[in-house]
Amino acid sequence: MANFNIDFKNNNTYDAIVIGSGMSGGWAAKELTEKGLKTLVLERGRDVKHVQDYPTTFLKPWESKHRGQLPLEVAKENPIIGKCYAFSEDTAHFFSKDNEQPYVQKKPFDWIKGYQVGGKSLLWARQVQRWSDFDFEGPARDSYAVDWPIRYKDLAPWYSYVEKFAGVSGNKDGLPELPDGEFLPPYEMTIVEKYFKDQVKKNYNDRHVIIARCAHLSEQREIHKQQGRMQCQNRTMCERGCPYGGYFSSNSSTIPWAQKTGNLTLQPHSVVDSVIYDDKKEKATGVRVINSQTGEASEYFAKIIFVNASAANTNLILLNSKSARFPQGLGNDNGLMGKYFAFHNYRATVRAEYDGYLDFTTDGRRPTSGYIPRFRNLHKQETDFLRGYAAGFGANRGVSNSREGFGTDLKNNLLNLKYGPWQVGSHMMGETIPKETNHVKLSATEKDPFGMPKLEFSIDYDENDEKMIADYFEQITDMFESAGFKNIVTHDSKQAPGLDIHEMGGVRMGKDPKTSLLNKWNQLHACKNVFVTDGACMTSTSTQNPSLTYMALTARAVNYAVEELKKENLS
Ligand SMILES: Cc1cc2nc3c(=O)[nH]c(=O)nc-3n(C[C@H](O)[C@H](O)[C@H](O)COP(=O)(O)OP(=O)(O)OC[C@H]3O[C@@H](n4cnc5c(N)ncnc54)[C@H](O)[C@@H]3O)c2cc1C
Repeated sequence: MANFNIDFKNNNTYDAIVIGSGMSGGWAAKELTEKGLKTLVLERGRDVKHVQDYPTTFLKPWESKHRGQLPLEVAKENPIIGKCYAFSEDTAHFFSKDNEQPYVQKKPFDWIKGYQVGGKSLLWARQVQRWSDFDFEGPARDSYAVDWPIRYKDLAPWYSYVEKFAGVSGNKDGLPELPDGEFLPPYEMTIVEKYFKDQVKKNYNDRHVIIARCAHLSEQREIHKQQGRMQCQNRTMCERGCPYGGYFSSNSSTIPWAQKTGNLTLQPHSVVDSVIYDDKKEKATGVRVINSQTGEASEYFAKIIFVNASAANTNLILLNSKSARFPQGLGNDNGLMGKYFAFHNYRATVRAEYDGYLDFTTDGRRPTSGYIPRFRNLHKQETDFLRGYAAGFGANRGVSNSREGFGTDLKNNLLNLKYGPWQVGSHMMGETIPKETNHVKLSATEKDPFGMPKLEFSIDYDENDEKMIADYFEQITDMFESAGFKNIVTHDSKQAPGLDIHEMGGVRMGKDPKTSLLNKWNQLHACKNVFVTDGACMTSTSTQNPSLTYMALTARAVNYAVEELKKENLS
């Protein structure tokens, strides 16, 4: 029996364990396996193989049973994820359903999840912008949260590293607030987007309109060929899974790359319950796992552990990792784990019409649109709220028909397609301020279907966010008016936090173990062989989409972890 146990332990022992195979876990897997570490990736969802597991990717609109619409029953069963714009008949199989992991909403929080190999990298909108020093210096300059332990220069080479492999299209715009990267050719702006860009340049000295940077292969380079990925076909059916690998996902890129090394063991249906800490060895030794199909519990062991379960679940796993040394959760000596949880403010939109350029129209598709980088409170504090917002911007003109009338009139109206004026629109992407009161924690009484404590969300907007929305409406309206746009309509969706799908924090990085959980290498201050490189590690939120930063932080942290392993500092 004793021998059997030793065999069991040997069979379940790896050099490294990665929890989660999504955007950041995929990168951890690629980097660790490339560096020669036998790596176990534990994924709670099912396996999704590139191309063969994209069942709707080639469906024509008339081939899907409900023409892409969700059956009422599915919508009713999923009031939370049903709110996500990308949840439809074609994509529902890549979303985790509401009943799969119930959670407690002390305050409303729409938690959007993708539980499968690839995680949310199969669903994302692929917008990728680097952070700048305006972001990394933000908390120190404006006195909130804690100072980041790194600056832009620490991450710049890692941004380049991941951009080259993932493939990012963009223009070199030369803006210090949005550093340029290793870009493939940019997508083209429509004529009215170009017009707006020129108008903004003429009317303001501090604002810019650019083509947004996106993780699409606008051109296939040798490194993408090696991954078996092809140029983006501009189908804009990305959330169904791209069979061409035209956009970056773990499934088309990092996971198969890791598999080719021969060092990867990918184990789906494995819900990680907690990290095992050995009080005597004073380090983490492995993880406890529940098989989601059989309910069977097992343990896996490794020298280093990367926690990449996506921000909220990473908080859940670490808070649930209790031991004699860490009764409040692994590495949680200061009791701050789960606190300073933050998100992005995506509540506000402005739309309008433009009746110029009526001899032009838009045709075809492209996977991105325009972008207005943050301009508020950039160089100095100039408003009565902290920080600022970026904004999406798009202008297009297509045909539409009238649905007015009855009988023959209605028929004629439906058949009579007409070009209307140009439609322009913008959406706000606001930075929120991480606060101690905005937090996630474990429910003391309620469990999820796998017997783990339910996660409780207590997160809300504040006055700073409301002021920012008012300013966004004012400024974008002003910019639209000065460009001659008409019929300007502002809208506040009043949506709950969460629907932005950029949840961050709770296990923040910092310089001081008294006020943060992770050091500058994403290593738990109090348990050096555990690394957290997903959104949980974020000290502040910036206005930029976050995933590129998770990828860069992951590659950097793995590089450090493997160096430390070689020096025997972690074993
Ligand atoms: C519709 C949509 C649009 C988006 N648009 C953008 C965008 O334009 N730009 C951008 O930067 N970001 C965007 N995002 C967000 C982006 O997808 C996430 O930031 C990113 O995927 C987070 O990476 P991650 O590795 O932390 O988590 P994920 O990619 O979600 O991966 C986490 C993985 O961990 C697994 N897991 C969870 N718990 C456990 C457990 N206990 N045990 C084992 N495995 C576990 C999950 O199943 C999942 O596979 C978007 C997301 C969505 C859904």
